[in-house]
Amino acid sequence: MRGKRKRQEEPLCKKHREGLAWFCEKDLELLCAQCRVSSDHGDHPLMPVEEAAATHRRKLKSYIESLSEQIKDTEIRSEMQMSKCFELRQKIENEKDELHSEVKQLKHFLEKGQIARLISLLNEETNVQEN
Ligand SMILES: [Zn+2]
Ligand SMILES: [Zn+2]
Repeated sequence: MRGKRKRQEEPLCKKHREGLAWFCEKDLELLCAQCRVSSDHGDHPLMPVEEAAATHRRKLKSYIESLSEQIKDTEIRSEMQMSKCFELRQKIENEKDELHSEVKQLKHFLEKGQIARLISLLNEETNVQEN
């Protein structure tokens, strides 16, 4: 292995034509030594670019990791919701069927002129509860 090779195209400051060795944390901007002393970034937190790159790479990595976790989570949840939705629809259909047959029974009951019987049945139930 050879020693460190200097990067062929080191980015230079467009204003001062100097190597961008500093990173302004506030403006998220790369600065050269001359920019650094300019009043524009006077009270801004500055970091050596290597350090900033490492920090941001780390941050970015953990950000991407948590983001992909979130995406996975959301995918799982939406899948679950979709199947839940299906289940719910199924349940509603079943309930509708049940209700429909109940209504049919009730109608049948009424048609047969058995309202009185129904009322007495209801009253019986009430009496039992009251005792
Ligand atoms: Zn500069
Ligand atoms: Zn700045």
